[in-house]
Amino acid sequence: MANPTCALCGQQAESEDLPLTWVTSLENGRRLVYCDRCARENVRSIEGKLDSAWW
Ligand SMILES: [Zn+2]
Repeated sequence: MANPTCALCGQQAESEDLPLTWVTSLENGRRLVYCDRCARENVRSIEGKLDSAWW
């Protein structure tokens, strides 16, 4: 099983378990994960469930 990888910056988690600070987002039926930093920067977009195409 692959470690979770941030959908924005490509940072890979150190273990197969998602770190508590990371965030998962369901977008267009796909499960994306964001590292703590990207999650903070994009928290409004994620919570608003906006399409990620405009990023
Ligand atoms: Zn990231």
